[in-house]
Amino acid sequence: MPHLLISGGSRGIGGACARLFAGNGYKVTSLSRSGKPGDFSEGVLYLRCDVKDPEEVKISVNKAIEENGPVDVLISNAGISVSGLAQDFSFQDYRDVMDTNFGGLFNLAGAVIPCMVRQGKGTILAVSSMWGQTGASCEALYSASKGAVDSYIKALAKELGPSGIRVNAVSPGATDTDMMSGFSDEVKEVISEDTPLGRLGRPEEVAETLFYLSSEKASFITGQIIGVNGGYLI
Ligand code: NDP
Repeated sequence: MPHLLISGGSRGIGGACARLFAGNGYKVTSLSRSGKPGDFSEGVLYLRCDVKDPEEVKISVNKAIEENGPVDVLISNAGISVSGLAQDFSFQDYRDVMDTNFGGLFNLAGAVIPCMVRQGKGTILAVSSMWGQTGASCEALYSASKGAVDSYIKALAKELGPSGIRVNAVSPGATDTDMMSGFSDEVKEVISEDTPLGRLGRPEEVAETLFYLSSEKASFITGQIIGVNGGYLI
């Protein structure tokens, strides 16, 4: 059975991925801050791990490989957002957002690449954001962290293609998860109105795109940032 390692598989987009891949014959390991060590349910092994911490990531990835075998698909999904005026963000905000959203990808990719290169195959995926492509007012740090994700994904695709490893990202628009819970219904309504398809995205729609990108059906796709945004950004 193939092995999916995903960060933030406890809920939201990551939770939808964990369910979809587990339901399609994958062994799934989820790393999240709330995951209890060794807690196994619905075909998913949940491990507690803060993706900001490179040592925790190394230990957790080794544990995941011990339990579920070599990683075939990595999805770096865990992310946080902060809103506010650019001049009001603290240095700690900067560290938290960059170290989670970009550092998490850096730490996870660093931990799985050697094994994937030895196997001569594998797929690395990241959950970015359309704000990384276009920038969002009052989300300057978040936008910058996702811009870093996009550039890293493109560079990795060039570096790892010759080793048989494909590297892509999905770039969701506003998606109905806990991350949107800080927004009022009025704001969600405005975002929906500005979206050609007239609504927020569902986590399952992002998960399906990631599943496709991980599959042989996407065998000639690498280095791409695929929008899943209902046409908000065209
Ligand atoms: P949620 O807030 O619903 O879930 C976030 C997940 O990330 C949780 O599983 C959380 O688990 C985990 N997580 C957060 N920080 C860490 C950390 N330091 N270490 C390990 N796990 C962590 O978010 P979404 O599902 O909405 O977001 C998933 C991804 O999609 C993020 O990268 C986000 O930026 C991106 N995205 C979301 C959009 C949206 O509108 N929802 C739009 C565009 C992109 P726990 O708290 O247990 O650690």
